[in-house]
Amino acid sequence: MADHYEVLGVTRDASADDVKKAYRRLARELHPDVNPSPDAEDQFKLVTHAYEVLSDPVKREQYDLGPQAAFSGNFSGFGDFGDIFSTFFGGSSSAGPRSRRERGQDALLILELDLADVIFGVERSIDIETAVMCETCAGSCCQPGTEPLTCSICGGSGVIARAVRSLLGNVMTQAQCGSCNGFGTVIPHPCSACAGRGRVRATREVTIDVPAGIDDGSRLQVTGRGEAGPGGGPNGDLYFEIRLRGHEEFSRSGDNLLCTVDVPMVQAVLGTTMTFAALDGEAELEIKPGIQNGDVVTLHKRGVTHLRGNSRGDLLVTINVVTPTKLSSKEKELFSVFADARKPESPQLTKIRHGRFYKKSRNFFS
Ligand SMILES: [Zn+2]
Ligand SMILES: [Zn+2]
Repeated sequence: MADHYEVLGVTRDASADDVKKAYRRLARELHPDVNPSPDAEDQFKLVTHAYEVLSDPVKREQYDLGPQAAFSGNFSGFGDFGDIFSTFFGGSSSAGPRSRRERGQDALLILELDLADVIFGVERSIDIETAVMCETCAGSCCQPGTEPLTCSICGGSGVIARAVRSLLGNVMTQAQCGSCNGFGTVIPHPCSACAGRGRVRATREVTIDVPAGIDDGSRLQVTGRGEAGPGGGPNGDLYFEIRLRGHEEFSRSGDNLLCTVDVPMVQAVLGTTMTFAALDGEAELEIKPGIQNGDVVTLHKRGVTHLRGNSRGDLLVTINVVTPTKLSSKEKELFSVFADARKPESPQLTKIRHGRFYKKSRNFFS
């Protein structure tokens, strides 16, 4: 683990003020809203953690004493007593003021995709209305050049003691200081750009890498692209719920794609090769002579790319044999000649064809 002093670039005897200044300078440079590189985000977390430790006198002392001290600190009875105290009498047992710095909220958005988008995956850029860190004050909430002042009512502790009657007599309990709302400091000159909130509304462009094979209803997480927290706090996360738009000609069954192609009767009898527009480009369909209505032709690896792995599902084409309805007198004559050439045929009851998996699955899923 990196040394907190080194991370902030200050000496071990740096004053609280030096630590704060060093943090503010680094935060301005590394905050994910200002610096989009993933490296900067990791740095920002490191720097923020270092600041959290070194800005708290108790934590800093423990840190200076080394891990042994921090460990034994967990066993000091006082904290436990505080918890019991609060369980019985209410009030806050946590010593010290609360931080203005909070993590931003997560957000859930709907992302509509076409079937063609999920075959190979797609990259989408979306403008999102959200809160971003105020660049004027770098999230400090103070007008540049000014500082928060220690609250004069609570002396910086964020809490005020008050006596409460109980079964055990009068008990001293703690309540949040109303003057500073528990922050321990007041901001005499709030930043005018963000009205002292440390963040402003803005439109942020977010790029989403949608993986191939993603299914309707799945959620994608984009870490650290949610709204910025108040007081320079870290960003929340964004979640996208996938909605697949229906397609007029193609449907999906797992990673297979399904469609139906009309084949004129004559071609069904004689066989042919036809091309049609699949979702990923032109597809060649071989019609074997004597193909039947409802037969399924499989075009291997022309379906959706599997979510895990590079292989693809198949495109299952159901054949719809189309009987001509309008015939010229010449055509009619030719069909009569053809009919005469065959031995007399009469209609037969069709036997139910079992084991036609593809045909059944199509009816089931579509
Ligand atoms: Zn501001
Ligand atoms: Zn106060």
